[in-house]
Amino acid sequence: MARVALVTGGTRGIGAAISISLKGAGYKVAANYAASDEAAKKFSDSTGIPVFKFDVGDFAACQAGVAAVAQALGGPVEVLVNNAGITRDGVMHKMSADNWDAVIRTNLSSCFNTSRAVIDGMRERKFGRIVNIGSVNGQAGQYGQVNYAAAKSGIHGFTKALAQEGARAGITVNAIAPGYVDTEMVRAVPADVLEKIIARIPRGRLGRAEDIARGVLFLVADDADFITGSTMSINGGQHMY
Ligand code: NDP
Repeated sequence: MARVALVTGGTRGIGAAISISLKGAGYKVAANYAASDEAAKKFSDSTGIPVFKFDVGDFAACQAGVAAVAQALGGPVEVLVNNAGITRDGVMHKMSADNWDAVIRTNLSSCFNTSRAVIDGMRERKFGRIVNIGSVNGQAGQYGQVNYAAAKSGIHGFTKALAQEGARAGITVNAIAPGYVDTEMVRAVPADVLEKIIARIPRGRLGRAEDIARGVLFLVADDADFITGSTMSINGGQHMY
């Protein structure tokens, strides 16, 4: 029977490409989102992928959201892609506590919240695939992003710790660290800054959401059983870690 896959932030940008490619590979996919109902409806109408609105930063909402996915898709979540994320950039000396909290909560605590909601079932069934989307900026740091770099760097530690816990139970946990990918998040970067960023990417272009989806598909496969605790960099050669 097809495995159920949940992609957080799966209705736009990188997450949408992940949802679509998982569906194409035969998974039963649920795409989560937070606020943009119109974008979610458009995504669902055009792909046939059901969408589930809940805040990944909210522990109780994740418990209820994961249960709703299992109920609607007729099986437990066996593949979890923690992709939802936000930026609230600013240099440290101007950053508000709210912008620190929002980024840590949405990008990092979310991984705990959703993984906690699926881990018991994965342990019982002796199978699970978790992929967490980190960032090159979590590996290398980035000016104006102490919150985002801390959250993404935290994801890489989270991945390695949970991989050790899950290994004996058939659960693999890996991370992908994308470089700069052409989505709305990156379109928010000023054009002159973006130009300088692209000049530093050896492949000479921004990533495409599909470049990241390709890595996810590889890591969640049943026969990717021996790959756990790893971080796959997909960044056009920008940062070799
Ligand atoms: P987008 O801004 O294009 O899409 C973000 C998605 O996350 C949306 O579906 C959004 O839902 C959802 N989301 C945001 N907050 C929440 C929340 N609290 N609960 C549930 N869903 C939420 O982002 P990208 O596709 O660019 O980024 C995807 C991931 O990849 C992020 O983790 C990002 O940090 C990471 N990344 C991106 C890079 C890039 O260059 N774009 C580079 C490196 C990493 P809604 O539509 O409702 O807002």
